[in-house]
Amino acid sequence: MSDAQALIETRALIKAYDMLVVLRKLDLRIERGEFVALLGPNGSGKSTLLRLLCGLTRPTSGTILIGGWELPGEAAAVRAQIGMVSHKSLLYENLTARENLRFFARLYHLPARSVDTHIDDLLKQVGLYRRADSLVRTFSRGMQQRLSIARALLHEPDVLLFDEPYTGLDQDAARTLDDLLLQAHADGHTIIMTTHELERAARLAGRVLILNRGAVGYDAPAHNLTTDQLAIHYADLTGMTASA
Ligand code: ADP
Ligand code: MG
Repeated sequence: MSDAQALIETRALIKAYDMLVVLRKLDLRIERGEFVALLGPNGSGKSTLLRLLCGLTRPTSGTILIGGWELPGEAAAVRAQIGMVSHKSLLYENLTARENLRFFARLYHLPARSVDTHIDDLLKQVGLYRRADSLVRTFSRGMQQRLSIARALLHEPDVLLFDEPYTGLDQDAARTLDDLLLQAHADGHTIIMTTHELERAARLAGRVLILNRGAVGYDAPAHNLTTDQLAIHYADLTGMTASA
């Protein structure tokens, strides 16, 4: 018998854009239920890795396995297990919050019978129930972000990927996002989040990875890791300082 399979696994993963090699033989295992913070300087390949994991871009070589399904061959099965929240909100500004979720529910072929209750539950979960029938273009960045999270949760994926979710949020919205992330993790979702915020990485995640020059240069549990210690590791590895 082999070891239990990790929920997310990459083997010798290489991604290059023409002559630019972004990921060099990345070997990564993430177990079900982990909350991983992915740090690294701009251009170190964080977004590329998330896009690879959800099948938005293809590896140059190497293997990606999610829940036993392989990319790029089994992309539909992989997408069914993944929800992504990126900088682009992917929301329709001239539709209401509820209309947006109904639209994406149809895309995911969710059962029509139960979908309205499911959408109401999600809107309550992200604190937008009272604004369900407002147009998205009237929403603050934080509210749009929360609706994006509801959209990513629609098909009840095992894995949630967040690409710099704190960018552009004010302090209140950022604290609300902290709670949503911790709740999603407590609900059993496996989370990978890229961020530049070392303090949040150390506080929220259970494991911290630092990507540098196409490889994982640091990989450690976040329990008992202080922001100051993480800042030192980050600076040692990358030669740069990061915002705390
Ligand atoms: P990060 O998210 O860590 O800032 P990215 O994954 O966005 O890094 O980018 C890694 C490198 O790959 C950067 O040098 C970026 O310019 C390059 N890159 C990203 N996407 C593309 C693309 N579609 N075509 C060409 N180069 C790209
Ligand atoms: Mg990025």
